[in-house]
Amino acid sequence: MAPVGILAVQGDFQAHGKALDRLGTAWRLVKKPSELNGLSGLILPGGESTTFLKFLQEEAWFEPIRRFASSRPVFGTCAGAILLAEKVENPSQDSLGLLHVTVRRNGYGRQLSSSVQTVEAEPELQIGPEAGAPLEAVLIRAPVILRAASQVRVLARLHGQAVLVREGTVLAGTFHPELTSDGRVHRYFCGMIADGN
Ligand code: GLN
Repeated sequence: MAPVGILAVQGDFQAHGKALDRLGTAWRLVKKPSELNGLSGLILPGGESTTFLKFLQEEAWFEPIRRFASSRPVFGTCAGAILLAEKVENPSQDSLGLLHVTVRRNGYGRQLSSSVQTVEAEPELQIGPEAGAPLEAVLIRAPVILRAASQVRVLARLHGQAVLVREGTVLAGTFHPELTSDGRVHRYFCGMIADGN
């Protein structure tokens, strides 16, 4: 499998590299659009979505990422999920629009805003050595998925609210699976790549 790219303009990209190392998956940091060539999938990490946007717009990343996503899987976590969304609130800001959801930035109340929560994961996430164990989600000033189009599948929920969703070859989580040793979410993404879907 060609390496997985990790967008490395801002945010916690190194932690995704470590998560992929734990799975034995090859990866490469992506610092400019031309470096998207030859990758099997792309991770948009967490960080600060407004800062991401500034870089992505200044260096004309939108079209290359959209083109990439038309044939290969893309996975956004937290700020990465905000970038993928069709609509962003609090405040409203530009986004790639690759995932038909509306997100509200920093959408949790104070108590949940930065915390570790056990989420309810769908059976298809129960893969690898952690299958069946509770899935812990690290939330850091996380967005809330307010609405999702009917073609968006919910793979994990917190208090009934979607925290990990998939639409075709786009996967997005409002939490940070790269910050725990549980490999299920990255393993699931690598499975999307391996399946060629
Ligand atoms: N609150 C951040 C934003 O709106 C996202 C936080 C994160 O990625 N951990 O961009």
